[in-house]
Amino acid sequence: MKPIAIRAFNPGPFTGAGNWTWLIRGRVTTLVDAGTGEAQHLEEIARALGGDSLAQVLVTHGHTDHASGVMALAARFPGVRFLKMPWPERDTRWPAAWEPLEDGSTVAAGDETLTAVHTPGHAPDHLCFWHPESRTMFCGDLAQKGTTIYIPPNLQGDLVAYLASLERVLALQPARLLPAHGPVMDAPESVLRAYIEHRREREQQIMDLLREGAIAPDAIVARLYRGLKDTLVPMARESVLAHLLKLEREGRAGRAQDAWHIIDP
Ligand SMILES: [Zn+2]
Repeated sequence: MKPIAIRAFNPGPFTGAGNWTWLIRGRVTTLVDAGTGEAQHLEEIARALGGDSLAQVLVTHGHTDHASGVMALAARFPGVRFLKMPWPERDTRWPAAWEPLEDGSTVAAGDETLTAVHTPGHAPDHLCFWHPESRTMFCGDLAQKGTTIYIPPNLQGDLVAYLASLERVLALQPARLLPAHGPVMDAPESVLRAYIEHRREREQQIMDLLREGAIAPDAIVARLYRGLKDTLVPMARESVLAHLLKLEREGRAGRAQDAWHIIDP
């Protein structure tokens, strides 16, 4: 399998240099992720298709930078099908005749077969697409080299689920991860293990603060992220909240109004 990396041409504060989408040529021409419908993206896809038609788009999850391009793709490539795991509250934003995928769904792509691997955490509907023969994983927003992944509880992000998803992908022993942002990862194990270790350290820092006395999430943010730009505070707050909710679920932290405290066993 030789997927072609195609830029979505949507650089911005939350997408960095913009998203990658992946084109798989062959019997069933397949695009992984839809991008945002930029004209340049559509042109690059058409060029890479070399006259073939686009059969289908597999969408890793319903976030705007991965899914909002479906209308433009449908207009530019008539007959194209769109497949993702349903996220009903979200999917109505992107009007397409979505075909549902679930964990374990197999999909013909190019001349090969991909398997959908449900990997919630960053988003509830997040799928990775696994090609066992080449041990290649289209990993969406599960991992991005050089940075951590945003887990927003207010958008159904879930840190417990995310850590389980990392372990699940590790167990498959992928040889490379093809992400939606940043460079290809040829040594996935070290990247994924570093994520797990980072979360463990972060959790320890938060536990240490809770041990000093009841504290609000905003105060935790101020202590952990010194000198953070104002515009980034809401994201940091969501990340802290993701940890607190994990601790709460595990019976290790509790809250009274907005102040969180430790629960010692
Ligand atoms: Zn995302």
